[in-house]
Amino acid sequence: MSKPGYPTDLHTHSVRSDGVLEPAALVRLAAERGVQTIALSDHDTLAGATEAVGEGQRSGVRVIPAVELNTESRWGDVHVLGYFLDPADALLEERLRWLRENRGRRIELMVEKLNRLGYAVSLQRVIEIAKGGALGRPHLAQALAEAGHVRSYDDAFDTLISKDAPAYVERVGLTPSEAVRLVVAHGGAASLAHPGTVNGLPELLPQLVDDGLVAMEVYYPEHTAARTAELRALAERFRLIPTGGSDFHGRGEHGGPLGCAYVPSDTVGALEKACARIAEGKVGT
Ligand code: AMP
Ligand code: ZN
Ligand code: FE
Ligand code: FE
Repeated sequence: MSKPGYPTDLHTHSVRSDGVLEPAALVRLAAERGVQTIALSDHDTLAGATEAVGEGQRSGVRVIPAVELNTESRWGDVHVLGYFLDPADALLEERLRWLRENRGRRIELMVEKLNRLGYAVSLQRVIEIAKGGALGRPHLAQALAEAGHVRSYDDAFDTLISKDAPAYVERVGLTPSEAVRLVVAHGGAASLAHPGTVNGLPELLPQLVDDGLVAMEVYYPEHTAARTAELRALAERFRLIPTGGSDFHGRGEHGGPLGCAYVPSDTVGALEKACARIAEGKVGT
């Protein structure tokens, strides 16, 4: 049995996006590690939610259906987590499908760029690696490592596909405000993921709070103690619910182990209360 984790983890990925584990396997790992509540927050999809909730009922893990919406703008990488979304919400699914199509097109463009640069990699292989999940750069990184063009997954990002690297292609998608509003419009609680990747956080936060942001991921494996303290103070100032998550992908290279981030004990209850206020139309503009 692996080392026990904190009892709650509000940021995890499965193979329905760029994680490695099947949703049910992720939930079983949570049970094994003593993590009693997880949010399955795949990128731009709720496709794993029903399977994860079902496995959660069998193995005694509460699963919160969620998504992570990645945006890129002058604010840097702003990733918005949406909690308590409904996998049967057809209008939401329509928007998520559009985002996934954009992901696919972006990866296709990056593959074309890589091929032009002399790094032979096939879109077909990237799609195979993704196993039907929402396509992302991690799948491309794996294909590049496999083909021997880079030494490792991390090396693929560092030398070829991170922002400002030669094969990078901009994302087409939502603005940070649109991401928050999409979550709120579908009755979810919106939280700002790993705020360390945001430029100009104190300027952006009031805008996102206006849009209906209710929480912020204060506790995250890559935050230093000083950063965490700073973020805790910002959360307090903007009356945001402090949350935490591992960003577990199952690849050692990104995020932390499942259950590795502290989450205050009243966080999930506070998010549920926020959803009740959203349902009454009392959050956002
Ligand atoms: P995408 O949404 O396709 O742009 O891919 C973003 C995902 O790539 C993130 O959610 C991480 O899982 C991963 N990622 C982003 N930057 C890095 C990096 N520098 N090294 C390793 N993984 C990364
Ligand atoms: Zn990811
Ligand atoms: Fe993220
Ligand atoms: Fe994530």
